[in-house]
Amino acid sequence: MKEKLIIIGSGPAGLTAAIYAARANLEPFLFEGFQTGGIPGGQLMITTVIENFPGFPAGITGPDLMMNMREQALRHGARMIVDDVLEADCTASPFSLLSANGENFQADALIIASGAIARRLPLDSEMRLWGHGISACATCDGALPVFRNRELAVIGGGDTAIEEALHLTQFASKVYLIHRRGELRATRIMQKRAKSNPKIEILWNKVVENFIGDKTLSCLTLRDTLTGSTSSLPVAGAFEAIGHVPNTAFLKGDIKTNGLGYIVTEPGSTRTSVAGIFAAGDVQDHKYRQAVTAAGSGCMAAKEAEMWLRDQGLEG
Ligand SMILES: Cc1cc2nc3c(=O)[nH]c(=O)nc-3n(C[C@H](O)[C@H](O)[C@H](O)COP(=O)(O)OP(=O)(O)OC[C@H]3O[C@@H](n4cnc5c(N)ncnc54)[C@H](O)[C@@H]3O)c2cc1C
Repeated sequence: MKEKLIIIGSGPAGLTAAIYAARANLEPFLFEGFQTGGIPGGQLMITTVIENFPGFPAGITGPDLMMNMREQALRHGARMIVDDVLEADCTASPFSLLSANGENFQADALIIASGAIARRLPLDSEMRLWGHGISACATCDGALPVFRNRELAVIGGGDTAIEEALHLTQFASKVYLIHRRGELRATRIMQKRAKSNPKIEILWNKVVENFIGDKTLSCLTLRDTLTGSTSSLPVAGAFEAIGHVPNTAFLKGDIKTNGLGYIVTEPGSTRTSVAGIFAAGDVQDHKYRQAVTAAGSGCMAAKEAEMWLRDQGLEG
């Protein structure tokens, strides 16, 4: 059966798109995802309190926020399925999708809101202490009371790592930037900012070998990549900034992506390189990566899809 609009992803971008599209009578059908590119509800399902999503002065837990968005989309008539899109043929409308369950779907328009996954260090201790002193987002978690006036670490050597470190200097007593090489990958201007900030100390040629802590992180074990020697670094928090992987594998290269794999959208729009396909949220945004920006672009995508369907005479 052919749908007017299929939305792929149930994070803030996908569910906001679903709310708007449902209220515009587009009867959206939404893939919530299952396990390929995260979980139903998206990245906020694995975090605790969200303090920067407007409208919740006391904060709200990630799962509660996502359950509220889901309920709101359902209330307005969005239909949903817990399944992944395995393959998409995006060459021309109507677009064809194959689900992981082996079912075929067709849609006149598509909104891709499949998010991105933060790369993580493959350590058992990292899994155990994730969310208890270890995070992948300083903008999200850096201002939490547990990190204030404490010594913190950022792991990485690119622009994002330096941005995270600079952001943390507002709260931390000191920020260690742990980098596995003897020079940073970041742009010159960002390197200069890091090196001239008195609160940042760069630890060169070091990798994290272990995260130590009982209930919360208290210390890192570092290994020197040149000598092999190990050392301990007491810190209250560690922020991993080793990159994100956008969830675009199912697109099989039909839509233009940038060098990092993010979907390219026209400036100020969610339009992609294929007419009738719109992208919202982290899958097209390697800069802001926030719930509110994802939700905002989900709204844009729904409105642009509505206009496109109307222009094609397909919205009825
Ligand atoms: C630990 C953590 C804490 C964070 N804290 C904050 C915070 O405090 N404040 C804030 O603003 N932001 C925070 N963020 C960032 C925020 O979570 C993201 O910016 C936001 O979730 C992006 O929304 P999205 O809808 O683009 O994608 P996501 O939330 O990543 O959702 C993507 C969705 O797509 C689905 N999907 C992926 N591939 C497929 C597929 N092939 N088929 C079907 N479905 C698929 C997934 O299952 C998921 O439902 C945090 C992120 C993390 C990891």
